[in-house]
Amino acid sequence: MTTTVAAYAAPAAKAPLERTTITRRAVREHDVLIDIKYAGICHSDIHQARDEWGGAVFPMVPGHEIAGVVTEVGPGVTRYAVGDRVGVGCFVDSCRECENCLAGDEQYCLNGMTGTYNATGRDGERTHGGYSTHVVVDENYVLRIPESLALDVAAPLLCAGITLYSPLRRWNAGPGKKVAVVGLGGLGHMGVKIAAALGAEVTVLSQSLRKQDDAKRFGADHYYATSDESTFQQLAGRFDLIVNTVSANLDLDAYLSLLRVDGTLVNVGAPEHPVSLSVFSLIGGRRTLAGSMIGGIRETQEMLDFCAEHELGAEIEVIPADRINEAYERVVASDVRYRFVIDTATI
Ligand code: NAP
Ligand code: ZN
Repeated sequence: MTTTVAAYAAPAAKAPLERTTITRRAVREHDVLIDIKYAGICHSDIHQARDEWGGAVFPMVPGHEIAGVVTEVGPGVTRYAVGDRVGVGCFVDSCRECENCLAGDEQYCLNGMTGTYNATGRDGERTHGGYSTHVVVDENYVLRIPESLALDVAAPLLCAGITLYSPLRRWNAGPGKKVAVVGLGGLGHMGVKIAAALGAEVTVLSQSLRKQDDAKRFGADHYYATSDESTFQQLAGRFDLIVNTVSANLDLDAYLSLLRVDGTLVNVGAPEHPVSLSVFSLIGGRRTLAGSMIGGIRETQEMLDFCAEHELGAEIEVIPADRINEAYERVVASDVRYRFVIDTATI
């Protein structure tokens, strides 16, 4: 039997989100029912609610930074019990059989991972995200939130945290490495915290100097405004790794010029429009342009445990659900310090 629960949904592309109800499936053999406590607002929610990536289906309940408590488990569940503090990130299922799923890279499932929202599940039902009071998820796609992390500051780790942790680990951010984070928003601020905890020398490249004090507090060693032309001359050839978190198109040639020989620019920002670059920006320094998307379940758990060990949570502004539309405007205006988190009790 399905359950009707309260949610906030975008009724159409670019329309304001409004309160509504949705149904959640009955708990199956391997499912857990989660009482959602907090849901982070990721810029990807805005891209999708405004159909900036195409293919959006409405009404849409966004939200893939979910933190809550298990209130019911299916008979076959072994990993979680009622009362456990858990999280759900960007996907809730995958084929479990392809080489990527078997390798723990479920986000790159060759048969398509099932998005937490704006997707169709393997049962044919539409998925709906975390801007709601409850969600039912297969236990294999649920994460454990360590006791020492409060649920509100943990929620953004489920997307922003893992999206930065994964490339920082893969490209060996650590002692002796010069790492730049472009854009100090939800993703970027977690990137600074995690890269600093990994021991890298961290530089923030932000549009203005406004967030300088915050960046230093998060662990950045250096901070430059990209609106200042001289920044690009001063930093030419400096970095081993640059992680670009910007939600809009950037002059990639300018940023590639900041890499040393063999350096890598990893793009995690997902702007609406295609990007372009001159190939000379790559061949002139044996440089690599790469991309990275969230992380697999195993790595996401590793990230949560790492954040607990290093006492890293997101910097958040908790809001009631009736301020979601206002929060969207502020995120788009780069006026977020540094993640909005919805208190789902207000839905
Ligand atoms: P966010 O909080 O809005 O942060 C983006 C930051 O980029 C802003 O705070 C701003 O930082 C900078 N920025 C924005 N517009 C800019 C412009 N026109 N020129 C230069 N800088 C600009 O967004 P987010 O939630 O961190 O997400 C960032 C992007 O990553 C989005 O496109 C999102 O869809 C994508 N994303 C990708 C993945 C993945 O798996 N790859 C996962 C999650 C999100 P400053 O004010 O410091 O300049
Ligand atoms: Zn996200």
